[in-house]
Amino acid sequence: MGKIKLLSDELINKIAAGEVVERPSSVVKEFIENSLDAKATTIRIDVEQSGKKLIRVTDNGEGMSKEDAKNAIMRHATSKIRDAQDLYSINTLGFRGEALASISAVSRFRLITKQPTNVAGYLMQCDGGIVISNGEIGAEIGTCIEVRDLFFNTPVRQKFMRTDAVELRHIAEVVSRYALLHPNISFTLYHNGNRLVSAPSVEGARDNVASVLGVEIAQDLLEVSLEKEGMNVTGFISTPYNARNDRSHQMLYVNGRWVRDKTITDAIYSGYHSMLFVGKHPMFVLHIELDPEKVDVNIHPQKSEVKFEDGNTISTFIVDAIKETLKKNSLVPEVDIQAEQQVTFGVPLVKPIVKTESKYTYEPAVQHVLQDEVVVYSGDVEPQSEIPTLTLLGQIHKTFFLAEVARGYVVVDQHAAHERVMYEQFMQQFMGKKVEIQQLLQGEVLEFTAAQCVVIKDKKELLSSLGFILEEFGGNSFVLKSIPEIFGRLQPVDLIHTVLDAVQVGETGVDGIKEQIITRMACRAAVMAGDDLTISFMKKVLCQLQDLDHPFTCPHGRPTMIRTNVLELEKKFRRC
Ligand code: ADP
Ligand code: MG
Repeated sequence: MGKIKLLSDELINKIAAGEVVERPSSVVKEFIENSLDAKATTIRIDVEQSGKKLIRVTDNGEGMSKEDAKNAIMRHATSKIRDAQDLYSINTLGFRGEALASISAVSRFRLITKQPTNVAGYLMQCDGGIVISNGEIGAEIGTCIEVRDLFFNTPVRQKFMRTDAVELRHIAEVVSRYALLHPNISFTLYHNGNRLVSAPSVEGARDNVASVLGVEIAQDLLEVSLEKEGMNVTGFISTPYNARNDRSHQMLYVNGRWVRDKTITDAIYSGYHSMLFVGKHPMFVLHIELDPEKVDVNIHPQKSEVKFEDGNTISTFIVDAIKETLKKNSLVPEVDIQAEQQVTFGVPLVKPIVKTESKYTYEPAVQHVLQDEVVVYSGDVEPQSEIPTLTLLGQIHKTFFLAEVARGYVVVDQHAAHERVMYEQFMQQFMGKKVEIQQLLQGEVLEFTAAQCVVIKDKKELLSSLGFILEEFGGNSFVLKSIPEIFGRLQPVDLIHTVLDAVQVGETGVDGIKEQIITRMACRAAVMAGDDLTISFMKKVLCQLQDLDHPFTCPHGRPTMIRTNVLELEKKFRRC
């Protein structure tokens, strides 16, 4: 007898579920897309225990007939495409007819639906893909689908689900993404009965951004709108100054579908050109529309990646849209070509002097002279790891301190040095569980996104150990009561966002997260290249640097100072 057997539909669906349904948020995504395809204007999402226990999506869309409701959970059952030709011009979010079949195969599933023209609604209920009840039922117009105990019959998948906070954050992100794209559709998300997202139907796109991302962000965004040769882009981008430390506020849509796309993302960054600081990421909410025949959406089971027929054209179009927006808002600096040429001309003269390989060879130092101050080292320190005796000469190019040392001079990178000082000082306080805090007298009321709220509530203890006390203030607002004293140079708002960005990025390993948060705070709070500094401030930083265990690199590993030997100068001047 042959060994090959055809798999049962039940098993096929279970296998396919692995591709379509990765976690609770994938279910939310598929359901929202179905509700949108059904032209709903109100979509309400209820989840319990971050979707692990219950996900319910209720819409007021066009509903399904009895036959359709029965067919909906069959594999490759779709009302959205009929033949291969349709595949090349997809106008709906769904088309593969896989979601309901896959989801119902790995959960306890219940669907109630009613079309406006029907008196009665219809119910379909199944457990692990097997129908356990169906029949007519009284219902409101639209569709309500409930998924309980996701992955109850696929234990491996169940094990792969992350903590409640992580899964809930993903759900909040998915809902926010769709809410951002559809100002005139009302979206609400409730978790265990508490409202997490509330994006009512509004007229203006900016108002909509305000209800999802917060009023403060929405206010500062620049509006983008460009149409050319059948391509259209609309939405918002941040000014380069409001760019963030991570990519969490970057939303891209192509023909009504949220996507990740490197071509377009790269084009957006190019549009900003050199206006973005290294490591900074602009915020954007951009919707690109083009002929559906020019973009393939059928390359990914979760449909979150697309392929453009002509990547170059779309890329140029996006670069232009960003540039034009920045220009319209007077944000493009003039380039002085003459100045650039001068710099290029000057480089070879400077280059041989800065000998980087000598940067860590410091001589033993007994005394540290900072003009009028004298700091005496204790004799038992490692000679190689000490900062040499140095006399501060001043600041150059608003970027470096220049100081004389025995037989040479050192150039100190003001940002790297200050960053290292702050990092170590804070680490010491943090490790000793004595983070000094600065109370904010008024307390600052701040609005967060739903995803950030999840993080704040989940990481409350971590945040307070870092010096941030946040109290709930209704909705998605919190009052920030204190910040860590050491980083008080920075605006409390900036500081908390820097921290939240780091918490979101590092989902794993709490120690890694702490390190990352502290590094980021130090980086943000340190003086920047371009800051004018007073002599006393520079002296203070050098003095503080001296007390540190690792004074020679910043927390990212860049050098804080570079030394040049006077001998090299003498050679250059042919004095020896
Ligand atoms: P697809 O969306 O790819 O067609 P799904 O498995 O997600 O496949 O859905 C199967 C079908 O069930 C859809 O084509 C649609 O006809 C119907 N359907 C699903 N959800 C809804 C809904 N909320 N309202 C109306 N019809 C729905
Ligand atoms: Mg679908």
